Amino acid sequence: MLIRIILGLGISIACFAIAGRRFFWLSQLIRSGQPAPRRFQGFAKKAEAEIVEVAGQRKILKWTVPGIAHFFTMWGFTVLLLTIIEAYGALFQRDFHIPLIGTWPAIGFLEDFFAVAVLVSLGVFSVIRLKNDPKRKDRSSRFYGSHTGAAWLVLLMISLVIVTLLGYRAAQVNTGNFPFQKFGAGPHTIAEFQAATTNWAFASKGLAIVMGPLGASVNSALETILLLANVAVITGFLVFVAYSKHLHIFLAPINIGMSRRPRALGGLDKTPDMDMENVTEDTVFGVGKIEDFTWKQMLDFATCTECGRCQSVCPAWNTEKPLSPKLLIMGLRDNMFSQANRLLAEKSDEGQEIELGTLVGTVIDPDVLWSCTTCGSCVEQCPVDIEHIDAIIDMRRYEVLMESRFPSEAGLFLRNLENQGDPWGLGQSKRLEWTANLDFEVPVIDGEIPEDVEYLYWVGCAGAFDDRGKKQVESVARTLHRAGVKFAILGPQESCSGDPARRVGNEYLFQEMAKANIETMQGAKVKKVVASCPHCFNTIKNEYPALGGDFEVVHHAELVDHLYRAGKLKPGTSYSGTVTYHDPCYLGRHNRVFDEPRSLLNAIPGVTQVEMGRCREKGFCCGAGGARMWMEENIGKRVNMDRTMEALGTGADIVSTACPFCMIMIDDAVKANGREDVRVMDITQVFEQSLLEPVGAGAPAQAEPEVEAPAPEAE
Ligand code: SF4
Ligand code: SF4
Repeated sequence: MLIRIILGLGISIACFAIAGRRFFWLSQLIRSGQPAPRRFQGFAKKAEAEIVEVAGQRKILKWTVPGIAHFFTMWGFTVLLLTIIEAYGALFQRDFHIPLIGTWPAIGFLEDFFAVAVLVSLGVFSVIRLKNDPKRKDRSSRFYGSHTGAAWLVLLMISLVIVTLLGYRAAQVNTGNFPFQKFGAGPHTIAEFQAATTNWAFASKGLAIVMGPLGASVNSALETILLLANVAVITGFLVFVAYSKHLHIFLAPINIGMSRRPRALGGLDKTPDMDMENVTEDTVFGVGKIEDFTWKQMLDFATCTECGRCQSVCPAWNTEKPLSPKLLIMGLRDNMFSQANRLLAEKSDEGQEIELGTLVGTVIDPDVLWSCTTCGSCVEQCPVDIEHIDAIIDMRRYEVLMESRFPSEAGLFLRNLENQGDPWGLGQSKRLEWTANLDFEVPVIDGEIPEDVEYLYWVGCAGAFDDRGKKQVESVARTLHRAGVKFAILGPQESCSGDPARRVGNEYLFQEMAKANIETMQGAKVKKVVASCPHCFNTIKNEYPALGGDFEVVHHAELVDHLYRAGKLKPGTSYSGTVTYHDPCYLGRHNRVFDEPRSLLNAIPGVTQVEMGRCREKGFCCGAGGARMWMEENIGKRVNMDRTMEALGTGADIVSTACPFCMIMIDDAVKANGREDVRVMDITQVFEQSLLEPVGAGAPAQAEPEVEAPAPEAE
C-alpha cells in the first residue's frame, strides 16, 4: 500500500503542479487582453448555453457521426470522474468505494458503459482522421494545417486511460477489491470473486474472466501496477491538455458561457467610440497587435480545437483562397503564445517598449484578411463559439483607419460612399429613377412620414441603381401596393446604410453614414422599416441601435410572407417550373430568415421547389458580402461560380434569392455558364407572377389561367 500511496501521490502532485502553473499562466495571459464589455451579462442565456451547447452538444451533433462519438467521449469523461475518485481512494484502501452510491450496480454499469463507449468513439475518431488524412486529401481535408501528430497522441492517451482503467478494475474483481461485488467472509477463489461480481459491470467482469487464469498473485500485482498507471496517465494527460489544443476540454465551457448569445452573427460586436474629440495619441482603432484584442478574443484563440469544421465550410477556403478561419485563429493563438512574455511583462510594468510589426503583414497575410466575405459559416459551425468575423473586422479596421492599407478597389468605393452616398458613385439624384416603371405613385418623404403610411421602404443602393436590383424593388413595391400596404421612400434623402464601409473596416465612415441616416429617419418620425437588401436590413436592425437608431425592421420576404398568410395576397396562377432558393448570408445565417422565402415558393401552385445541398444554416455565400462585391477576386475560383454550379446542378429553371447582391453575383455566373434558359430572380418576383387580382387594395380576387414558365427577360 505504501508504494501505491507514495508513487500515486508523488506522480499526481508533480503533474498537478505543472498543469496548475500552466493554467495560472494561461489565465494571466488571457486576462492581459482588452476589456470585453457585456460578457458577464445575461446569466439565464449563459446557463441555457451551458445546458444546450456543452451538455447537449447541440452544434457538435449537427455532424452526426463525429458528433455522437464526441458526445460519448465528453460524457464519458464526466461520468468517469467517479472512477478517478475510486482510483485515488484505492491508493489508500484496496477495496475503497465511494460512500453511499459506490456499490450500486447502476454506477458500475454507467462506468463500464462509458468506458466502452469512449473506446468505441476513439475508434470512430481514428477512422475519421484516416479518411480525412491531409497528406492524402490536402486542402480538402478539414484537418489540413491542424496539429495531427498531437491529435493522434491525444487519442492514444485517452485509450490508455480507458485500458488501464478497465485493467485495474478487472484485477480488482479477481482480488476481491472491486466495489461492485458482494461475498461473505473466508478465503475465496478467483472464480468465487467473479461470481460475486454484478453483471452490470459487464466490461470489468468480462475482462476479469480473461485475466483469471493469470492467478491471484499476478492479478494482485496487476491491480497495483495498472492502478498506478491509470493515475499516471490521467495526470500526465492533464499536463498534456494544459499544453495542447486539448485545452478546449476546460476552456470550451468557459468560452461558450462568455460568447455572444444566441450567436456572434448579425451585427458586429463592437461599436467603437469614433468621436474625434476623444482621440488621443494612444488611441488605437481596431487591432494591430495581439494585445489589442479583448480577453474574450484571446480566450477564443486558446480554445480552438483545430477541428476544421469552420475551414470546411468557408467559401474563401473552398475556392482556393489563402483564408482558412481555422488557420487564422491558430495563427493568432501562436502569436499570442509567442508574445506571452512581453504581454505579461507589460502587464506588470516590467516590459520594455519593443517595436513590433503589425499582425497583418507578419502573422496574417493581407490576402487572408481581405478574402473574407463575412458570410458567417465559420461562426455558425464552430462548436466552441469562436467569433471569427469580429476578429477579422477588428484587423481590417486597424489596416484601414491606422495604416490606410486596403485593396485599391476598396479605395474607389469608399470614395464614392463619401462623396456620393453610394458605392457606385451615381449620386442621390438618381435614387428615384426606379419608380418610373411603376403605374402608381410612391410617396417620397418630405418632412415627416404621413400618418397613414406604415412603412419606410428602404430601397438600398443596388435596388436604386443596378438594373437587376431595380426589377427586384419594383416587384416588391408592386406587391406591397397590391396588398394595400402604405409605404413611402426617402428618395434622394436615402444613402448607403454603411454596411460596406463597416465590413471593409472604415468604421469612421460607417458611423458618419449611419448617424446621418438615423437623423433623417428620426426627423421623418419613421417607426417601421421594410428593407430589400439583407445588408441594409441587418445593419439598420442590428447595428443602428448602438448609435441611437431604434426602428422596427423587417425584410421584404418577411413582410410579403406575412401579407400572404394574412390573406392579403392570393397566389393562384399556376407555374409549372422548378425553383431553387439561395439563402443570402445576411438574411439567413445572420438573421435566421429561412422559412419565409420558402413559404412564398410553396404557396405558388405547380412550383417544384428543390433545395441545394448547402442550404439554410449551411447556405454557401455568393461571394459579395464583407464588401467583396466591390473588390476584384483574383485568387482561385470565383465564389459565385462555385455557388451557381450547385444551383444549376439542381436542374432548376429559376434560381431565386432575396438579396440584390446575390442576384447580381449568381446572374453573372449563370450567364458566364451560357445558361440563358435559367433565370435569377428575387423571391418576390417569382411570387408576384402567381398573384391573382389585388386583394388587399379591396378589389375582388379572380383566378387566372395556368401559364407556362415565363420567358427570360431581355437585359
Ligand atoms: S465569415 Fe465566411 S468567408 Fe469569412 S472566414 Fe468565416 S467562413 Fe470564411
Ligand atoms: S475555430 Fe472553431 S470550428 Fe474552426 S477549427 Fe477552431 S474550434 Fe474548430
